[in-house]
Amino acid sequence: MKGRIFNFNPGPAALPLPVLEEVQRDLLNYKGEGISVLEMSHRSKTFDGIIKDAERLMKEIMNIPDNYKVLFMQGGATLQFAAIPLNLIGNGQFAEYVNTGSWSTKAVKEAQKLGKKVNVAASSEEDNFSYIPTNFKVSPDAAYLHITSNNTIFGTQFHEYPNTGDVPLVADMSSDINCRRIDVSKFGLIYAGAQKNMGPSGVTIVIIREDLLEKSPDNIPTMTSYKIIGGKDSLYNTPPTFAIYIVKLVLEWMKEQGGLEKIEAVNKQKAQMIYNAIDRSSFYRGTAKANSRSLMNITFRLPSEELEKKFVAEALENGMLGLKGHRSVGGIRASIYNAVPLEAVEKLTDFMNKFEKANA
Ligand SMILES: *Cc1c(COP(=O)(O)O)cnc(C)c1O
Repeated sequence: MKGRIFNFNPGPAALPLPVLEEVQRDLLNYKGEGISVLEMSHRSKTFDGIIKDAERLMKEIMNIPDNYKVLFMQGGATLQFAAIPLNLIGNGQFAEYVNTGSWSTKAVKEAQKLGKKVNVAASSEEDNFSYIPTNFKVSPDAAYLHITSNNTIFGTQFHEYPNTGDVPLVADMSSDINCRRIDVSKFGLIYAGAQKNMGPSGVTIVIIREDLLEKSPDNIPTMTSYKIIGGKDSLYNTPPTFAIYIVKLVLEWMKEQGGLEKIEAVNKQKAQMIYNAIDRSSFYRGTAKANSRSLMNITFRLPSEELEKKFVAEALENGMLGLKGHRSVGGIRASIYNAVPLEAVEKLTDFMNKFEKANA
């Protein structure tokens, strides 16, 4: 489409073009109702259909068992850093966290700030978060084990989830939800800000097992209470209606792509193309250990920071946006979420090869 460029932004990030086109088509007059979804009551029959469809499609695509609920909350993944300990760590209890990067570190700090007891069960901090720890022990009496499924900044991802027995596994999947098939029944709670792989900013998806929903104490803020938000089917107060509508369209788009298996295959192909370009060159250096590499955020360095600056600038001149690494780590990061097409990755790897020849 004229004027559109390839978007490798880490989040908010690329949305599927057919979704944006449908939003545009229906923006002023939604399905003949004479008003926009933006102007619609969250209590209307039409919006009720939209939010129910979004929950139904999430369950269908992810194969979510019946004893789970899908909530649409606000405050981003960051509010979940507080909501999870507030809801799930009871008096005298503690929780365990695996520290695999900046987001895990923030999740730990937020729990501590609320006066909750937290143990770090494993960490890869000593090696600059370049890998995912395995073979660690989980205390059988922990309220939950928290992991960050994909580390958006460091480019690492869990490829096998820890076996936690009866301890609920809680996962921040903000940057890799629905990038591949997972077994939801292994988790007590999954959460994700929508703005990376599911839709626009403003809505946070929480998938929670029903027995955990009941744990929320009565004295926590209403907007963090899974019991209250879940009990009202995410309509306790005004939810982010337009963002939920777009999430629903993204889910429909996922189905049209052939569902998670097809999307996962394309994601693997896309990631492999970039990792191959890194591995066959001595000019590019990947920052994540090979067995912990992410399918979604691919991080690498060039021989100098000057060359990295030049790479980002020339990529943009060639129609590729968002390749600068996170400001806390530098380098290059290609975020290749579901909505980033194969052609974008072909163009990027082609550019990488040319840039290396011209600058090595
Ligand atoms: C982006 C991100 C966050 C922060 O999300 P907000 O919705 O901005 O609060 C948390 N965790 C991970 C893994 C992320 O990628």
